[in-house]
Order: sequence, then structure tokens, then C-alpha cells
Amino acid sequence: MNFVLHGSSVASGITIGQAHLVSSARLEVAHYEIPEEAVPGEIFRFDAGVSRAKQELALLENQIPADAPAEFGAFINLHRMMLEDSSLSHAPREIIRERRCNAEWALVQQMETLGEQFAQFEDPYLRERKVDMQQVVERVLKALMGERTPLAPKLSDEHKLIVVAHDLSPADMLLFKRHEYGGFVTDVGGVTSHTAILARSLNIPAIVGLHHARHMIREGELLIVDGIQGVLVVNPDPLVLAEYRLRQSQHELERKKLGRLKSTPAATLDGTAIELFANIELPQDLDKVHEAGAQGVGLFRTEFLFMNRKDLPGEDEQYEAYREVARKMAGKPVVIRTLDIGADKALDGHIEAMPNPALGLRAIRYCLAEPHIFLTQLRAILRASHHGCVRILLPMVAHAHEVDQALVLIRQARQQLDERCLAYDKRIEVGAMIEIPAAALALPMFIKRLQFLSIGTNDLIQYTLAIDRTDDAVAHLYDPLHPAVLQLVAQVIHTAQRAHTPVAVCGEMAGDLALTRLLLGFGLRNFSMHPSQLLSIKERVLRTDLAAAQPLAQKVLRSSEVAKTRELLAQLNA
Ligand code: PEP
Ligand code: MG
Repeated sequence: MNFVLHGSSVASGITIGQAHLVSSARLEVAHYEIPEEAVPGEIFRFDAGVSRAKQELALLENQIPADAPAEFGAFINLHRMMLEDSSLSHAPREIIRERRCNAEWALVQQMETLGEQFAQFEDPYLRERKVDMQQVVERVLKALMGERTPLAPKLSDEHKLIVVAHDLSPADMLLFKRHEYGGFVTDVGGVTSHTAILARSLNIPAIVGLHHARHMIREGELLIVDGIQGVLVVNPDPLVLAEYRLRQSQHELERKKLGRLKSTPAATLDGTAIELFANIELPQDLDKVHEAGAQGVGLFRTEFLFMNRKDLPGEDEQYEAYREVARKMAGKPVVIRTLDIGADKALDGHIEAMPNPALGLRAIRYCLAEPHIFLTQLRAILRASHHGCVRILLPMVAHAHEVDQALVLIRQARQQLDERCLAYDKRIEVGAMIEIPAAALALPMFIKRLQFLSIGTNDLIQYTLAIDRTDDAVAHLYDPLHPAVLQLVAQVIHTAQRAHTPVAVCGEMAGDLALTRLLLGFGLRNFSMHPSQLLSIKERVLRTDLAAAQPLAQKVLRSSEVAKTRELLAQLNA
């Protein structure tokens, strides 16, 4: 059966490939169907994995040192009990039998079902046991995979795999970076969620908010992901397929043409220089930064170094990552944002469940509450500053005292390095993200304390409009063109410039072609975005007449009617 689903595009382009259904977690686990006759063998393999995990726990229990804290034994005991429970040791056998899927996949499906049950417990203690259950599952998964690495079904080379999932966390998306997928589509998710932002950094077409895709699509079905229109075509007929192949090659051609602009200096028609920086999540992203000819890294989201692991990266490990970026950027600016953890970016087992994580102990709030974690990161960043042009960026500030405390801790980190005779840039600049309306409205108190600012429009929109950026039920209300958002953005740019404080935009608005001229008209001269967006933004900058853009941008600011705003924007972009 062929059909079409509509969602929100988060990464442009067109891709054609085969559906690969995945669960929201543990993407590295193979998912494949098994023939009827292989079911008993697969159940046997599952049982062997469970036995091995039990043996490991028994061994651990016997080796507990006499001086170990009492909780240690209790925790192993709990894991053993969970593993004995039929919900983990038997239910996956039924899933293997009924759904004819491999053991790992069956286990992950059961983990998700249990996870939902845990999340509904009223008692916070019981709710938090979800993490223990996941750890037990991981132990069995490891045992299973150690026994025999399962082979995914062989796919013909002409078709790429397109991931189809109900939902993916930013941590899941991070795992995509190690695979060659053609595209990805999900049932839920907002366009500026961190999952979507990561998808964009992979530079593959992606659509979120498709609602029932995961249920309606079967493994191996042919899909067209049209990331330009936000359309997913399932089992296209030959005519539609041919049309999309044509569009795909045209799109590729356009992308190649853009590549020629790599070394062209970014400037508007009158010669005003514009800085185009790149956002990265990991040092591996630097190849794309160089390919796009970015003039610097405007946002290094360091929290991704902290994800998909049980422990925290130590000072040396972080230092090496930051130094690699500083060195490879060879003297060009590298803005390293301190840990912005919380909300949709969780740290395994390090953050307690919060009633409202987006308004909770997130980003700078978390770092100030955990000064040891913060100091470790600050020392690592400072040490890396010796190898390039590094700046420190503080996320989510709302109060002046947060900046004051952070500055005290930076001083403390410097002293600690002085005591160890380690070098760092003594003139390192410190700035903050303006992403809470309170900070945008009370800008002078930040300007006074800091050397630069960067507007995080993703959160600024989320907090101004009270729209959860990860929730597709309210995604239609997430609007960068809302007059309140535009007023705040324009006001921050204007106030910062009057005070001679450099200001950038590093949220998704910076990479949105429809908004480039508007932001230029507001006076913005530094944009930071995903490398994949940089060259098309540069092309737009090169064709912008600032003298014409400025008055139109002011008219947009004065407009209080959405229809009028859109009309003016269309004129601006004509
Ligand atoms: C933002 O909020 O605009 C931003 C750049 O930070 P993040 O998307 O990582 O929250
Ligand atoms: Mg933010």
C-alpha cells in the first residue's frame, strides 16, 4: 500500500531508502526479523544471555570488599531480583516467539514497556528504579552481544537505511553519528528540540511529528523522505519515485554549487563584513566546519561529551577534546559553552527527576549547584585556551549573581592551574547566552559583567512563548516571528551594539534562510549555525542590500499583525 505522511522538516534534502524501525533506545542493538524455525534457537540464546548476566551479578556479590558501603550490596541484590523477575527473564521470550524478532530487540521492546510502567509510579523512589531496570537490561544485552555479534539483515547497496522511530532522545541521536543512515523520521518531537538539532548536524533529511509512522511502516519498505516539504512517501509508485529522483539530483547539484562559496568572504552588497560561525556538538564535527569554510566555532555544545556514559569525563579527557577543537581551528575563535545539561539533555543517573526539567536545575544552575563538576570543566577549557582562541560561554543566565558566582569559579579554576604551573590564556573572554526573556530585558547587568553575548533563540522562543520545544503537540505555536520574540531579539542586538559588546545569534534562527535579512536588518553581524546551513546563508548575505533591509526590518518590528509581518518578510526576501 502506498501513502503519504506529513510532518515538520528538521533537515532539508531528499533521500530514498529502506525503512529501518528502531526503538527509542540502544540504537546499536540490531533489529531484525527471524524465520519461524530460528525461534527456539533465539530463545535459547536469550536464556544464555540472562544466565550469563546472573553469573556476573553473583560474582560481583561475592567480591564486595568488606569496607564497601552497604548500598553497594543492596544495589546488586536489587539487580539480581529484577533479573529473576519474569517481566525481564520470560516476557522477552514471548516477544521473540510472537513477533519473531531477535533477542536483543525483544529485550529492548520489553525495556520500553517496563520503562513506561515505572514512569507512572507515584512514589519517586520506585520511579527512579527505572534506571536500575535499564542497567540490568544493558547487562543482558552485553552478555548477548558478547556471545555472538548479531548480523543485521543484508541490504542491497543501492538503498540507504532510513531510521523510523517513535521518538529519539538527543543521546540516541548522538549514536547516529557513528552510522551511515540516509535519513530519519519520528512520530513526535519539535523542530528545535536537541534531537532535531543533532539531526541537522548529520546533514541528512529528517522529519519529525509524523504521529503514526512507526506503526504504519514496516521494516524494509521503500521510503522517500522529502525534508524540503516535510513529506514522507511510503511505497511510492514508479512515477513518483522518478520525479523524486530528479528533484534529489537537482538538490545535490545546488549543494555542490554552493560549495564554490567556501572561500568567498561573507559580506553584504555594500561590503559590510558578516561573521559566519559554526555550531558543533563533538570534535568530530570539525571536518564539516572546515568544509563549510566557517570563520570560527560560535557554539560548542559540550554536554554531548557527557552523554551515553555512566561516568563523567574527567579534566584531562575534556581538555583533550577542547584542545583538539582549539588546535584544529588554528587561531580562529572557538566559543566553548559550559555544560548545558538538563531539560531534554539528561545525564545518565546524575540528575534527579524534576517536576519540570526545562524550568529546573538546568545549565548554569546545575553547574553552580555542582561546583566540582563545573570547576573540572573550567580548568579543562582554560587549559585548552593555551592552544588557540578560546572563549567561555555561560548558558541560561537569568540573574546577575549567577554570572558573579561563575566568574568567581573561573578565578578559582585559574588559581588552581597557576598552582599546578599549567598555562592558559590569561585574557580569555567570558560571555553568556541570552536565552531567557529576563536576561534579554535586563541586558545592561550582563553587559557590565561580560565581554560578549550570544542569543540562544531556541530557548528564548521556548521561554517567551511558554512552548516546550520538544513537544510536537504545541510545535505549531513555536514561532520565531512572534512580535514578542522579534522585539526581544532586536532589542538585545541593539542594546549590545550601543554598549560595544559583541553579540551573536547561535540558535536555529541564525541558520534559517528566511530570517537572514531580517537579522541583518536588526544589525546582527555574527551568525552561528550548523555547518550544513552555512553556505546557503552566506549566499543570502552576499545578495543582501543592507540599506534596503534595515528599514524593512524596522517595519517588521513595528508590525503587530502576523499577516503583515509575513508580507513584509516576503518583501525583504524578494
Ligand atoms: C538556544 O537555546 O538557542 C541554543 C543555542 O542552545 P541549545 O539549543 O543548545 O539549548
Ligand atoms: Mg539553549
